[in-house]
Amino acid sequence: MLITKNGLPVHPIGLGTNAIGGHNIYSNIDETVSKEIVRTFFQQGGNFVDTAYYYGWGRSEELIGEVMKEFDRDSVFIATKGAHIRTEDSWYLDNSPEFLVSCVEDSLKRLQTDYLDLFYIHFPDETTDKSKAVSALQQLKQQGKIRMIGVSNFSMEQLKEANAEGYVDVVQGHYNLFNRDLEGEYTQYMLEHQIDFIPYFPLASGLLTGKYRLDSVLTEKQKQRPLFSEANFSENLKKIDVLHQLANQSSVTVGQIVLAYYLTLPFVSALIPGAKQPHQVISNLQAAEVKLTQADESLIEKTFTASVSS
Ligand code: NAP
Repeated sequence: MLITKNGLPVHPIGLGTNAIGGHNIYSNIDETVSKEIVRTFFQQGGNFVDTAYYYGWGRSEELIGEVMKEFDRDSVFIATKGAHIRTEDSWYLDNSPEFLVSCVEDSLKRLQTDYLDLFYIHFPDETTDKSKAVSALQQLKQQGKIRMIGVSNFSMEQLKEANAEGYVDVVQGHYNLFNRDLEGEYTQYMLEHQIDFIPYFPLASGLLTGKYRLDSVLTEKQKQRPLFSEANFSENLKKIDVLHQLANQSSVTVGQIVLAYYLTLPFVSALIPGAKQPHQVISNLQAAEVKLTQADESLIEKTFTASVSS
């Protein structure tokens, strides 16, 4: 297992799995393909899988658990998340210590393992004291049920409260070239407190792979997202043109340039690009070998400073 520059014991390119059995997030998911994506990822040297109860209401964890049995458990780093309570037609959030303990127990069963390498509180609820929530996870850590403690989608205030006793190991948050809102106080706090940061949506849901053109046919769901909306899409593609030039110069893909760029950032520990096809994970893993020059990094920085929210 590699150790990232900030100390997380994983290969720096992980696998995001909201499309692995995530029937509540994407339509037409083929579970055979889902399992093949995870299997290919491990076979190609990947070891860091990011899942959550929310992805398919446990189905993502179950499928990953089935594939994990084909590999040595200790060679795999599995991160999952909990906080959602599913109701008949909706869900709500709960960060209470009792509920988080039950989340971990349930995830262990679905993943068919006796420890989680990392467990995140997926989203903050509105009522629980975040230091109490994290203290409950610290006890699970002492019992060996989880090895690292994470929080996700926490505001600056919530992160400080959660980390009051220094127990937070990892933060996961929305961050990509088009959404750099966390840069500044938040990233500085993580660096100062030796907290690993895992950005989610690193490929801006596929836009940052460079596969979209002005005449691409977008789904209605995509058009509703600010990144793909009529007002922003063509401007965003102009920025991505700069990435195409860099990718062509180095005979790599735009997605690989983007992932390699994040790995140069001092506050980024590892990445979890999602995938819907096995060939995508192979391409994404290869990004770990892509080296950018200082000039490449400066050009990307300059191109993407004015970003729109996604
Ligand atoms: P993403 O990583 O920004 O984009 C992934 C999508 O890009 C894939 O599903 C695929 O979609 C496309 N893609 C990936 N690799 C590609 C390649 N090599 N070539 C061409 N297209 C490629 O978005 P995401 O999967 O939604 O987010 C990443 C992970 O972050 C999730 O899987 C999940 O684990 C995590 N996440 C966490 C939270 C949280 O609240 N903590 C929220 C969201 C996501 P198409 O083939 O359809 O284009």
